[in-house]
Amino acid sequence: MEGIAANELTKMWNDAVKAESPGLATSGGQIPQSTQANKPLPESLVPNPGYTSTPVGGGIYTFPLPVIPSQSYKEGGRRFGAGRDNGARKHAGCDLIVPPGTPVCAIANGYVRVDPYYFYNGSYALEVVHDGIVVRYGEILPMAFNSSKLDLLPEIKKDAKVIKGQVIGYIAKMTGGSSMLHFECYSNSALNGGLTDKSKSGGAYKRRSDLMDPTNLLDSAKASLPANPGNLDATRLQNAITVGHSTSKKAGY
Ligand SMILES: [Zn+2]
Repeated sequence: MEGIAANELTKMWNDAVKAESPGLATSGGQIPQSTQANKPLPESLVPNPGYTSTPVGGGIYTFPLPVIPSQSYKEGGRRFGAGRDNGARKHAGCDLIVPPGTPVCAIANGYVRVDPYYFYNGSYALEVVHDGIVVRYGEILPMAFNSSKLDLLPEIKKDAKVIKGQVIGYIAKMTGGSSMLHFECYSNSALNGGLTDKSKSGGAYKRRSDLMDPTNLLDSAKASLPANPGNLDATRLQNAITVGHSTSKKAGY
């Protein structure tokens, strides 16, 4: 599978944004503030409890997307710790708002922890172990993994090795119409079991206790974009963009 040049990827991706929101231009690989995919999320109802952000990164990670979202992942409903479900739980990751079909790239070398699985509002999630930490790449396109119609990433399954910058998923359009990478991080990859803990209540993070605030990791990774992901191919990207835009109409998968 041949890669494509960064400028070709940027053009295709910008074309997809323009097709979704005619009249809006993109620049510098960043998406405009007011595309349909950028609908603002509700502001926090619960204050951030002051979860400390473990200072990881330091340039060793690459950003999980080939572009930097124009909306900050540190503000509003997008930030770690923002309220969800009227304060019943807290947002356990950072939301990176990008159009459907945007490739998701591994932030480092690692391996897939479990097969991709159903996550939220018609989207899937993928868990990858990267040198001691676990990243849950959430709100990605299910049809990239398990559809007879579109099987873009058959190699992404339990125990598969991934390399830094490799395309490991594509952004889904959720049943509510929004699209983003929900980026979630855990500090102890030696622990077994699921990452979600629904027994936690009272406005807590419904997550395993080694949940991390991924903000610092993302901040440092921004210096290294996976501009030319190794396994990204123009046909795959076009398929992901096309199908990504249509999935919200197909809540049955
Ligand atoms: Zn999220």
